[in-house]
Amino acid sequence: MFRELMTLDEAKQVIQRHFEPRTSSVETVPLLEAYDRVLAENVVSALNIPPFNRSTVDGYAVKAEDTFGADENKPIKLKISGTVSIGKPPMTRVKQGMAAGIVTGAPMPDGADAVVMIEYAEAKKDDVYVYSTVTKDENVMMAGADLQKGETVLKAGQLLGSREIGVLAAIGSAKAKVRADPRVAVLSTGSEITEPGRKLASGRIYDINAYSLSTAVLENGGKPVYLGVLEDDIPGLQKILRQALASADLVITSGGVSVGPKDVMPKVLNTLGKPGVIVCGIAIKPGKPVTVALIDRKLVFSLPGHPASALLVFHLLVSPIIRQMAGRTLEKPPKVKAYASMRIFAAKGRRTFITVKLKRDGSKRLVAEPVPTGLSGAITTLAKADGYLEIAENKQFIDADEEVTVQLFHDLRSI
Ligand code: AMP
Ligand code: MG
Repeated sequence: MFRELMTLDEAKQVIQRHFEPRTSSVETVPLLEAYDRVLAENVVSALNIPPFNRSTVDGYAVKAEDTFGADENKPIKLKISGTVSIGKPPMTRVKQGMAAGIVTGAPMPDGADAVVMIEYAEAKKDDVYVYSTVTKDENVMMAGADLQKGETVLKAGQLLGSREIGVLAAIGSAKAKVRADPRVAVLSTGSEITEPGRKLASGRIYDINAYSLSTAVLENGGKPVYLGVLEDDIPGLQKILRQALASADLVITSGGVSVGPKDVMPKVLNTLGKPGVIVCGIAIKPGKPVTVALIDRKLVFSLPGHPASALLVFHLLVSPIIRQMAGRTLEKPPKVKAYASMRIFAAKGRRTFITVKLKRDGSKRLVAEPVPTGLSGAITTLAKADGYLEIAENKQFIDADEEVTVQLFHDLRSI
């Protein structure tokens, strides 16, 4: 069945030829729900920020020229005209020879063009002695100094984090227009698979893939829709996959794609719509039996059941598609250079992916140590891995101490 396997690059090309990911629709969400969403429009400020000239210190608002010549030994006396309250329009004006008390963030009163810091002023009854010269605009943040009315403050496609959401709040937006997260249906297959939380009967194992894959969907900006665990049974799978295709933008299944008698997924996929299966096995290790179908313009990725393989194939093939649909940049998590801790052999004629843990050796070099994911299961070892390295199809092994590039699963913490 997998005699003529496509290479990974061929499989990617076939998928691209059949499917052009369209960015998802737009929705409006409250600001506090906008975290980690992709902005769908350019945002233009409708006002100046700050909206008025503001004092940046506590002190006295003055006409700068009235303070010229003042120093520690030669204070200049000004008459206090009043006090400006914060959060209200100023009720006092500053005429020549006068000063108004002001606090940080309060609006500048008419007539004043600078603020003397409280540390350089000494109030005595109705007068204030100024011990320092200030220049025009000193200690004043001008209207629009932060953001100008009409300025584009955020661009479509930006990911919203604390700083961007702060900017939206600053211009008075209570909502954000963001890309709808693509809906990704996730289902597991296999008569031995039990949902976590239930009692585990003899001979059965818990469903790992639905959870690891759904979380990987979230990590890439999609919205997972969990459809449960299905038996390896053709009519049941046809029914749930029709529902999945009707309600989701993309479907991910795991299990049932190998060559055993219960591995019915490719057969099922060919009954659901045109063109059906477009990739049937790829020359990679692990992940060889991965099957991809296009059904009525929606992609179905049927990943191998082995949890580590399923997650690796997700990283290689599925995550770029979800990211494009979500309007996210295609930037991958970072890669790092390291040295192989030992000789690592490749699978003959297949692109081989080796999950590795990174360590530092005596001279502080990063060293990549293979984390064996074993023949089946082994999610715990995968959880210990920091990333993976690739061995090309035409290469037999990587030698001990050879320099390698490690694609990280996550940002590198202190190692
Ligand atoms: P399959 O691809 O269905 O032949 O499954 C390959 C291996 O992965 C078998 O040992 C399965 O029991 C295991 N497996 C399949 N699906 C899951 C799953 N959802 N969670 C954990 N292990 C699984
Ligand atoms: Mg199975």
